[in-house]
This record gives sequence, structure tokens and C-alpha cells, in this order.
Amino acid sequence: MSLSEFDLIRDFFSAATAERGDVLLGVGDDCALLQPPPGRILAASMDTLVEGRHFLPQADPEGLGHKALAVNLSDLAAMGAEPAWAMLAITLPQADRDWLGAFMRGFTMLAAEHGVQLVGGDTTRGPLSLTVQVQGFVDPDRILRRSAGRAGDRLLVSGTLGDAALALARIQAGAAPGALDPGLCRRLDRPTPRVDLGRLLGGLANAAIDLSDGLLADLGHVCAASAVGAEIELERLPLSSAVAAACDAGEWQHVLSGGDDYELLFSVAPAQLDEVLEACAMAGHAVKEIGRLAAEPGIRLIQADGSSREVSALGFDHFRG
Ligand code: ADP
Ligand code: MG
Repeated sequence: MSLSEFDLIRDFFSAATAERGDVLLGVGDDCALLQPPPGRILAASMDTLVEGRHFLPQADPEGLGHKALAVNLSDLAAMGAEPAWAMLAITLPQADRDWLGAFMRGFTMLAAEHGVQLVGGDTTRGPLSLTVQVQGFVDPDRILRRSAGRAGDRLLVSGTLGDAALALARIQAGAAPGALDPGLCRRLDRPTPRVDLGRLLGGLANAAIDLSDGLLADLGHVCAASAVGAEIELERLPLSSAVAAACDAGEWQHVLSGGDDYELLFSVAPAQLDEVLEACAMAGHAVKEIGRLAAEPGIRLIQADGSSREVSALGFDHFRG
């Protein structure tokens, strides 16, 4: 379109990230030319962040750059894939160079951590919207799928749950972001994609999914794809102290149906459990057993007193409510 589109591409996107040997041609022609490694499967995913829907107007652009890439890397992690290439479609209300510089700083720092090269994209004018596509590689025998869960598998989750949702709820209730626990806000603004954990689990775990829409909703996806039910022991859910305090006050929704955790939820055959726990401990990944998959359909929450309650997949759904 306008001259400034080409200026922006040259100044912000052309050489934003490190060059990979498997990129024959990056930004600059009509297509990128990419050389996938022989014998590996290409894993591809795309996610859009829209202002007002996925982030607040006035959100810090550097955090947005990080998050736009992080949510995509999290999808690769959930399949056990190694990240390689990214494309960025960005729609901007105006050519704000300070904003773009900060956005690309966040994007580029995370890309460098994972050896990802930005190989192309699109730049247009309009309401602020950010779409990132990523591609990565996975060995055919190490792919993690939602559909590979079996009744009797143990359910495990990485990290802690509900932090991002609690931070968002507090901000929406009027708390100044500065007044909140910085660790909590970081979970909302700068999620850590569990890429190394996903790659470690390939070939060891059965089903896997990344938690973007809330524990119950995403577990519901695994159950549907694997044709099983599940039981979650509430007592065992890994919680930060801030989220544990909210749960004590009755606010379980952040943990069960909040979104934006970007942790991995995965199932492991009982015979593999010790090996998985040991491999995770060796590699420094915090993971916790929180329940199991069951033949009986539906999701049941087991309370501390042993009583159990059937729940629906209450996670966030963009087209509901
Ligand atoms: P075309 O008009 O042929 O689609 P464009 O003018 O949109 O090409 O883009 C020129 C080059 O810049 C292409 O290689 C494209 O992939 C790249 N590009 C455009 N916008 C971005 C962006 N936001 N991030 C990365 N690369 C981009
Ligand atoms: Mg174009």
C-alpha cells in the first residue's frame, strides 16, 4: 500500500531476528523460501490477538510483542515441536514507530530465545490486530496429540494455574497494575511457552494440550478428542500463594475456567509416570499430577473430603456469553 508500509517493513521486519540456515529467502520477496529438514513433520499454528478482546487498549507494546509470539510457541510446545519460523500479520491504526519498536523488541527477544526467524508477514492499516503464524518440526514418532489420551492415564500439569486470570480479574475490578503482585502480572503479560517441556514429553506422554482457555475447557477438548472422561483432585492443583488465597476466598474460577495460563496439560500411562517425573525433575520442569483420565465420560472434581462433583467445561468460549 502506502510508501510508509515499505519503510516499516524495511525498518522493523526485514532483519528483526537471527538468520537460520534453513531459510533460503526471508522477508523481501513475494514468498519466503523455507527448507524443512528431511524426515521431520512440519507443525504449523496461527493465533490472533485483537485489541479489546485479547488485550486492553494501552497495553504495553513490548509485552504484546512477547505475548503474540508466546501464545503460538505454546501451541508448538503442546505438539512436542521445535520452533523454527514465524510470520507476522500486523494491522495498525497508524505508523507509530515508538510503538512498533517496543512491540518488535518483545517479539525479537522471545524469538531469539527459541531460535525463531521472522520470515515474512503482512502490514496493513486498521484497528490494532496482531496475527502470528509459527512453524516448527517434530519427529513423526514424537508428536503429541489431544486424541492420544487413554482411560487410566495420569493427568499432569506444568507450572501453576490461574495466575494470569487472577491478574486480569483484579485489573478489570479497578486495581492499578502497579498495585498488583508483579509475578502475577508477568504471567498475564509475558507468558512462558513450555517449549522444552513439550519436546521432552514427545514419545513419553500420551495426550497433551496447552492451557489457553482454562483448565476445564482445555481438559474437555482432550476428553472429547480421546473419547474419555476425567477426574481432577482439587487439592492437588498447583497454585501460587496469591491464587491459593483467592481460592480460599471461594474464587476457584481463575483456576478452573480462567484462561491464559499457557501451561501444558498432559496425560501419561501409569507405567510411564516415574520416568516422566524423573525426566522433568532432571530438566528442571515443575510438573504435578492432578488427576486421571477415566472411561466414564464427563469431568469430575474431587474435593478434599473425597466427595465428587460433575462439572461442565466452564472455560472461556469466545462465542458464548
Ligand atoms: P506483497 O505485496 O507481495 O504481498 P508485501 O508488500 O506485503 O508483499 O510485503 C513485502 C515483504 O515484506 C514480504 O516478504 C512480506 O512477507 C514482508 N512483510 C510484510 N509485512 C511484514 C511483517 N509485519 N512482518 C514480517 N514480514 C513482513
Ligand atoms: Mg501485502
